[in-house]
Amino acid sequence: MNVDVNPGFESAPMAVLPPDIAHIGIVGAGQMGSGIAHVCALAGLPVTLIDVKPDALTKALSIIDRNMGRQVNRSVITGEDRDAALARIVTSTDYAAFADVDLVLEAATEKEDVKRAIFKALTPSLKSSCLLASNTSSISITRLGASTDRAEKFIGMHFMNPVPVMKLVEVIRGIATDEPTFQAIQNLARKLNKTTAVSEDFPAFIVNRILVPMINEAVYALYEGVGSVSAIDTSMRLGANHPMGPLELGDFIGLDTCLSIMQVLYEGLSDSKYRPCPLLVKYVEAGWLGRKSGRGFYDYTQSPPRPTR
Ligand code: NAD
Repeated sequence: MNVDVNPGFESAPMAVLPPDIAHIGIVGAGQMGSGIAHVCALAGLPVTLIDVKPDALTKALSIIDRNMGRQVNRSVITGEDRDAALARIVTSTDYAAFADVDLVLEAATEKEDVKRAIFKALTPSLKSSCLLASNTSSISITRLGASTDRAEKFIGMHFMNPVPVMKLVEVIRGIATDEPTFQAIQNLARKLNKTTAVSEDFPAFIVNRILVPMINEAVYALYEGVGSVSAIDTSMRLGANHPMGPLELGDFIGLDTCLSIMQVLYEGLSDSKYRPCPLLVKYVEAGWLGRKSGRGFYDYTQSPPRPTR
């Protein structure tokens, strides 16, 4: 008896080339979105940057201008490079501006419902070949991808803060992500002069799985009175040779983002060792989010910033 084990398939499908990413759309013009726009524009890529808040867009453009100005002063780039890069960035509050982009990189607030609502709202404006990437620090790429109309073109592209300085990009495939999408993102990272590390799709991936519980532990040490803010940060800077203390680093990342990551780890891994410190919860509830709100474990209205405990 003749059994056709592979009906309809006579040969393996031909390898598909990764799509070229020539024009980038970014959602979220906060610290990460503005940093990603900065490096993409300097690499010669036109960027369309979208935020719900028009003032976030104005602020992002002035931060990018200031940060590129610093690179000019340090002779990392020329004044012409800066002018050309700034001219490549356009801003909008309307997803219709994404009609021609080849990749949308989402860098909005670290909340799953916010991100899902963004993807739902923007996909009707995209061409069918457009790839989607999330800069999420912790949320499942498989779950986010499944909530869109193109799970196979959905991937995690996790930049580090500050984006123009930090060399690493974590790349995270969801279960449905296809190989051309993965290769296209690797090619883009190379174009941006970044080194990639591939992480499996587990809560918080590699860097934040290790880093954010350390910050949470530092907040517990403060909460339990083991040391003051400056004693904890000085200990880790001079005793462990970290460039920044963990509380200073939490303020730099954003305490709301740190709390969201701890919640994802706690719920995603069902392990009490990831319980967010109640003091971290209280700071976020108070709106003390770190540098971006002017106060966290340090008061940034003082120069130099003054420890608050
Ligand atoms: P942020 O608070 O600085 O910026 C978030 C931006 O998203 C804000 O400008 C906000 O207006 C915008 N936004 C919120 N809802 C929106 C919507 N519906 N549509 C469009 N824009 C919307 O936050 P961030 O630190 O830039 O973090 C952004 C993402 O990057 C998060 O997923 C975070 O986990 C990730 N990330 C952060 C860091 C870090 O160190 N802060 C590092 C790597 C990755």
